[in-house]
Amino acid sequence: MRSARVDREANKHLFGGASLEASLSQKDEALKETIATQTYEAHGGPLVDLLANGAECDGIRERAASLPVLRLSPRSLSDLELLAIGGYSPLNGFMTEADYRSVVSEMHLISGIPWPIPITLAVSATEAEAIAEGSDIALADVSGRVLAVMRVEQKFAYDRRLEAREIYRTEDEAHPGVAAVYTQGDVLLGGPVRVFELPTHEDFHQYRLTPAQTRTVFAQRGWRTVVGFQTRNPVHRAHEYIQKCALEIVDGLLLHPLVGETKSDDIPAEVRMRCYEVLLENYYPQDRVLLSVNPAAMRYAGPREAVFHALVRKNYGCTHFIVGRDHAGVGSYYGTFDAQRIFEEFAPGELGITPLMFDHTFFCRRCDEMASVKTCPHDGEARVTLSGTQVREMLKGGVAPPIEFSRPEVARVLIEAMQERVTPHHAI
Ligand SMILES: [Zn+2]
Repeated sequence: MRSARVDREANKHLFGGASLEASLSQKDEALKETIATQTYEAHGGPLVDLLANGAECDGIRERAASLPVLRLSPRSLSDLELLAIGGYSPLNGFMTEADYRSVVSEMHLISGIPWPIPITLAVSATEAEAIAEGSDIALADVSGRVLAVMRVEQKFAYDRRLEAREIYRTEDEAHPGVAAVYTQGDVLLGGPVRVFELPTHEDFHQYRLTPAQTRTVFAQRGWRTVVGFQTRNPVHRAHEYIQKCALEIVDGLLLHPLVGETKSDDIPAEVRMRCYEVLLENYYPQDRVLLSVNPAAMRYAGPREAVFHALVRKNYGCTHFIVGRDHAGVGSYYGTFDAQRIFEEFAPGELGITPLMFDHTFFCRRCDEMASVKTCPHDGEARVTLSGTQVREMLKGGVAPPIEFSRPEVARVLIEAMQERVTPHHAI
């Protein structure tokens, strides 16, 4: 069993062995001022904290024991965790109908604050029948361990196809995000949650920083501007280049891979984490980068999810966010630059985080350096580019991609992982 308290212990190494609080007390007032100021720069107001502690925690836990228990899907469980730690500020629970409808059709909460993705709790009609509006329920993980209490303000029906069209821009059930909407329950429960224990995780404890913790690290390192990088893939040279271009104009980089539920053919999170570790160890200045994981589930909503990813990173303390080509896309559902153009649909300053847009990047043999289609005048032959399929085939065959494409340390991790997967003993 791992509580938020235990996770804070696991994070001690980040603060030079001292506890977070002790380490802070050694810092000067100006720094505390920075942290305090940043606290008010969460999306839509102060950073939300739905984690009960002390006496309140015991009280809620006791009350939860007498309530009907709803077991959450892995996706809803990640949503609960992000709600609890403020990653979804200003949300304080699962959306009620008015917010849900407004988010689907207007990309804004009814308060007028931008929000592009519904955060909803779907249940079957049978489950919904047993729950009265205005009553409390206990929320549990898949094993049945109770973590939170929710006040069910509303239960409401919704239009799946409308949600698919508006959020995912397709009704095709082959789209993994759409498929998730089509297969979830018929009724949505909306209302605030109070969490007394965070979901447990088997892995990456030292990287599970909450938004409050990443903000503290940023402040301790004196970073006034921080760029966030979302990824669910290994970082190859092209993405390293983008991150470093961004880092030339800001103080720090938050490498924030998503480790919640992803498609089964995405590379497993533990392999990706090993790739990031060897990459950062060998090629990044340690005092300019923070590796932490984002517990969110992937929705593959392309443009809408790009805005969502940016807002969540704002809550983690980022001032800038990298948006690449086909950000958060899947298959060919979205145009290459749709995820960049959607930012223009918001008024200047409305989102409160600056998107940094990047085009296709690669190593060019004529330029003899990393470049993009914006900066390199040469044709395709000079450019070292490989498709995802080509890279997978090479790695499966034990062949490292050229060093202009992948750092050898990263390629080695990927080759080893591929070979483990094809060994029958380790078959997945
Ligand atoms: Zn060139």
